[in-house]
Amino acid sequence: MKILCIGRNYAAHIAELENERPEEPIIFIKPDSSVLPKKQDFYIPEFSNDIHYEVEVLVKIKKVGKHISEAFAPSYYDEIGLGIDFTARDLQAKLKEKGLPWEKAKGFDGAAVIGEWLPKTLFENINNLNFKLLKNDEVVQQGNTSLMLWKIDEIIAYVSTFFMLKKGDIIFTGTPAGVGKISPNDYLSGSLENKELFTLKIK
Ligand code: ZN
Repeated sequence: MKILCIGRNYAAHIAELENERPEEPIIFIKPDSSVLPKKQDFYIPEFSNDIHYEVEVLVKIKKVGKHISEAFAPSYYDEIGLGIDFTARDLQAKLKEKGLPWEKAKGFDGAAVIGEWLPKTLFENINNLNFKLLKNDEVVQQGNTSLMLWKIDEIIAYVSTFFMLKKGDIIFTGTPAGVGKISPNDYLSGSLENKELFTLKIK
């Protein structure tokens, strides 16, 4: 199983990090070892002093495919979820500055939080889903999939021109504005259309 992540997919998040708006989707990969085991707390790793949460809508791929057209993309997934792309922002900034790959900042153990899955049939339009992240019961990130620069089916078409998609692969579709730092004893919870899909304690 692999995790494909899209970077800079919401204009407001690009602005808050003062990044350039990309001409094509930015893709990076998290290894399967980055998945935080269910019901486990997240331990802030000792190599970073600035771990950021990034709440993101997730898509689980259900069958193998490559060079998938946008029109056929919907037949490659039945489930939609929500998760966190934890990012060691201090480490990422250093790597970016040197033009080096981000993997250490994005792919470390526990950096991928994957919540419960919901059948896509539950939703009328997956390109109009509200989602949010609460930190200590306060809303810190709020998004709607209509604000994605590249929508789910476009992402599947794009990534599958480079990477064969396999059953069980997960796509992280990018984070909206409002990313921020976590501290020990924080409590996070994420909801998609007001259904809570994960809760998480920070240690
Ligand atoms: Zn992200």
